[in-house]
Amino acid sequence: MKKVSIIGGGIIGLCTAYYLAKEGYQVVVFDKSDLSDGCSYGNAGMIVPSHIIPLAQPGMIAQGMKWMFDSQSPFYVKPRLSSDLIKWGIQFYKHANLKHVENSMLALRNLSLLSKELYRDFALENNSFFYKEKGLLMLYKTDKVAEEISHEAKYAEHLGLEVDYLSRAEVAKLETGTKTDVIGAVHYKSDAHLYPQKFMQFIKEELTRLNVQVLPNILVQDFTLNNNIISEIITDKGTFSTDEVVLAAGSWSPEIAKKLNVKLSILPGKGYSFTLKDQEKKPAIPAILCEGKVAVTPMNTDIRFGGTMEITHTNDTQINAKRLQGIVNSINEFYPDLKVNRPVEKDTWYGFRPCTPSGMPIIARDKKIKNLVLATGHAMMGLSLAPATGKIITEIISGKPTSVNTNMFQG
Ligand SMILES: Cc1cc2nc3c(=O)[nH]c(=O)nc-3n(C[C@H](O)[C@H](O)[C@H](O)COP(=O)(O)OP(=O)(O)OC[C@H]3O[C@@H](n4cnc5c(N)ncnc54)[C@H](O)[C@@H]3O)c2cc1C
Repeated sequence: MKKVSIIGGGIIGLCTAYYLAKEGYQVVVFDKSDLSDGCSYGNAGMIVPSHIIPLAQPGMIAQGMKWMFDSQSPFYVKPRLSSDLIKWGIQFYKHANLKHVENSMLALRNLSLLSKELYRDFALENNSFFYKEKGLLMLYKTDKVAEEISHEAKYAEHLGLEVDYLSRAEVAKLETGTKTDVIGAVHYKSDAHLYPQKFMQFIKEELTRLNVQVLPNILVQDFTLNNNIISEIITDKGTFSTDEVVLAAGSWSPEIAKKLNVKLSILPGKGYSFTLKDQEKKPAIPAILCEGKVAVTPMNTDIRFGGTMEITHTNDTQINAKRLQGIVNSINEFYPDLKVNRPVEKDTWYGFRPCTPSGMPIIARDKKIKNLVLATGHAMMGLSLAPATGKIITEIISGKPTSVNTNMFQG
């Protein structure tokens, strides 16, 4: 059976390894880290078929410019003289239009719904990762945001997703975990959530069972290439032969692709999260606090709060205290009884979302390198879309028709 090498053991790489191994491939995963942390671990754990509108959308440029000058804002582009950033910015601008949004919505919905089905299958096997289907509350405090969120929800409804429009009193009736101070909410009933660290543990155990070699602490550095076919992967621990290669290295994908002369426009969107352990009082339903763009997820006995999107570079490991304070302020304004304090730096997690300028993931065979398949650029939806991505990559490598149409995921 063919040997498939996967570069990157985040959620995309590991889910891909799972479906390839199930199909009978000999699978090896390389990761430069010890596979205990990273973007796939500290995220908000939301599975969001409701998120059918990509980041690149009309109004985002104007809103983004306003946020650039607010030190506590949830979105920020770190200004620097970089050709990658300039090219990314131009592409983002080109995609921020209604036509692109309309083309993207159905593709994202289909990919998300497939993923949710696959998560359900995993949970039926062993729900050690606290998968729950409670939907997602889009909580808001102002009429302006109410209008925007309801407008977006109409698109979702039009695509067959179940949506409830809730008044302040209806929110209070549904959210029984803690008090909310909002004027209303949209409840996306299609959405689900899980505990990311526990899911990563679950999938690693599945891979062990399937005899997948998951190799931590190995840095992929280069390739041996003959006639546009990769024959070897060169790492800091030696050279490995291969038949097929899946590039699933998240925000680091462009620097690896460069070794093959493949251009990928992906920049890291840094986000923060912190987790309060063993909380008696906590929201019962995951929520986005819309004005602050903060994600709130109950995870078993814990609560996780996440937010901010700073378009930056992968060496930027600083925690921005003002933006973290912005997250904390939103939580206390929306949930007055929680009384959350800003966490100290060591309790604050950050991760790099791999963001394409179109807001769409890349799930495709490379056009030039014949045995290279790309599984990257999932931005704020990598957890949500991981099982479906893994399944589709397996179908691409097997030469089978894909479960969903992948025209919008070609990069
Ligand atoms: C605050 C926050 C909240 C989020 N909330 C959600 C959410 O609720 N729902 C959702 O769907 N998504 C969410 N996301 C996004 C999600 O976490 C990411 O989309 C997802 O984790 C990306 O997974 P990945 O496997 O592509 O990348 P990663 O998890 O970054 O994995 C890439 C791996 O490649 C490895 N690697 C890199 N270079 C090399 C090399 N040269 N050699 C070997 N290995 C290499 C890295 O070590 C890393 O382990 C959130 C993100 C953040 C930051």
